[in-house]
Amino acid sequence: MLYNKGLGAARKVRGGNRLNRRIGDVAGRQAGPNSRRYADFNVAIYTRAYEVQEMADLNWLDARFDVMQRHLKVGKVYLETHRDGVMPDEATIEGARAYLLDRGVEVGGGITYTVNERNRFQTYCYTQPESRAKVREIAEYTAKLFDDFILDDFFFTNCKCPACIEAKGARSWTEYRLQLMTAAAKDLVEGPARAANPDVRVIIKYPNWYEHFPALGFNLETQPAIFDGLYTGTETRDPEIGNQHLQPYESYEIFRYFEAIKPGANHGGWVDPFGSMTTDRYAEQLWLTAFSKAPEITLFDFRSIQGLIRQGQRAPWQEGRSEAPRNWGVGVDFDEMVSDHLQADGSLAEDATLALAAGHAFDLADGVVGQLGEPVGVLSYKPHHSMGEDFLHNYLGMLGIPIAMQPTFPSEAGTIFLSEAAKYDDDIVQRISRLVASGGNVVVTSGLYRALQGRAPGNAIEDIVELEVTDAKASVQDYQMGWFSSAHADMPITIPHIRYMTNDSWEEISGMTGSTGHPVLHSASYGNGKLYVLTIPDNLDDLYHLPAEVLGRIRETLSGDLAVRLEGPAKVCLFLYNNDTAIAESFLPEATEFALATGSDIRAIRDELTGDELVGEQVLDWRQRPTGVTRFSTKIGPHKFRLFRLERA
Ligand SMILES: [Zn+2]
Repeated sequence: MLYNKGLGAARKVRGGNRLNRRIGDVAGRQAGPNSRRYADFNVAIYTRAYEVQEMADLNWLDARFDVMQRHLKVGKVYLETHRDGVMPDEATIEGARAYLLDRGVEVGGGITYTVNERNRFQTYCYTQPESRAKVREIAEYTAKLFDDFILDDFFFTNCKCPACIEAKGARSWTEYRLQLMTAAAKDLVEGPARAANPDVRVIIKYPNWYEHFPALGFNLETQPAIFDGLYTGTETRDPEIGNQHLQPYESYEIFRYFEAIKPGANHGGWVDPFGSMTTDRYAEQLWLTAFSKAPEITLFDFRSIQGLIRQGQRAPWQEGRSEAPRNWGVGVDFDEMVSDHLQADGSLAEDATLALAAGHAFDLADGVVGQLGEPVGVLSYKPHHSMGEDFLHNYLGMLGIPIAMQPTFPSEAGTIFLSEAAKYDDDIVQRISRLVASGGNVVVTSGLYRALQGRAPGNAIEDIVELEVTDAKASVQDYQMGWFSSAHADMPITIPHIRYMTNDSWEEISGMTGSTGHPVLHSASYGNGKLYVLTIPDNLDDLYHLPAEVLGRIRETLSGDLAVRLEGPAKVCLFLYNNDTAIAESFLPEATEFALATGSDIRAIRDELTGDELVGEQVLDWRQRPTGVTRFSTKIGPHKFRLFRLERA
């Protein structure tokens, strides 16, 4: 018998009126006798309406929750009131709430506005009156039951029913839906919820596909002001499988982006176990969310984290892990994780659930996150409702460049990065021009330059530098960086050819095809600053085939304002904080060498998890003169992270 624990806790259930709920909330926050908390973040579990219904049987709940609590320090549980037309009744919700409060666990509500999730995520129609009335009724029902609730990923619309087609009229779908869902947020959700419960806090959770939000009505410009807070989908899964192909760095980056949209009101990150072939990949998403300084991490969901860990989820790089020096970082140790759950025949016991893997990840991150200051990175402006070079910022993150996306143009910054998305700002050329002229460095992609070229003088990017991103392509595998530095890549990549005027602008990095060069990083002086054009390959994946030397020059250009930069191959990431702490994390399947490069203001770098001090060496130029750069070379194991502290001279 698997779930054989006594049901004493369930028998002690209190009444579920609002007064008790408040007392319970306070008890939860103060970590009552039954609750256990992580030091650096809160962990929550989200429960779908289907499983909330099952909780009518408290024995069913108790048996399952008991296993979760063995593996995790659960601080909060969200109980869903609606999904796919399923609405658990009030008595069931009150019973489950009382059970959880009794265990010192906070309880919040949740709504999934799907008509039928299994039918390609069919959402509600926000045009037809009956459908609108239902949306409103669900918000009211939930607000009467909870003082806070989260809208799961689906408060968007993909409805193209005849009524929606007619209402859209001459507008684009993007325009129609952006307006429709702003009004729906106010009139059908926030307003009715507040009328039903004046103390309610409505949190909108946005999913991981932020580039494509506008077309489906997620409005990052208007909705954050309407709702009390935001929540962030930080799941990235395996980029090689599924149909989203998200880069792991996004698990960190997207939380930071939403935090910049509504500072201080991004309540947490949210990860499901789907689409991760190894427990390492699942765990990484959880601690990357923690590295983003999310105050709460929600596990989706009560059902799926009961899934069993399979031996097949032991990653290939786990082999030989125990022999790897422990000072190469920490990560999932599969064998250690499951050691207490191995059966005589080598199979895993039935309590070795994904909650165990999540608990393993949280144990590794707890204690680390508390040492981190506020995240910092290369500022990058992404206007609201913009697209272009989709998800490029996450690829740059994977190249070891810490990125801080924000919805406003950083006019004071020293060095900023702009992808093609910046073309959505009608004033972007003037903004770039002013920042560069006043001494800033702006790195624009070839995609952005291309989008802005050919405009009339006065509003033309050519007013800064005359070049042309042409339709011609080159397949390059060799790179030249000035006279004395060259590099050869593991494979050729296809890049657009940029035409420029000799002696007016300069190749910093050239892709070589025999005796012809193609700018990969190009610079032009303007006023007191510089404009750089970074060539983006036709296929973003090709960025990972740029050699370490090329990546080093790109990082050097972008990281001018940062205390430290990374040297080494792609897929080693750097996370930087304003208190001189840094995390390096490798997503490579084998151990690799890398280095942290600093100016002379940094005297030493210490690994905070081992106490080891890294050995620094002065970097010399081609004439053997000191460059003022110190290189701290070290190693990192596969899918591991290391915590560093920089010590100032
Ligand atoms: Zn419709």
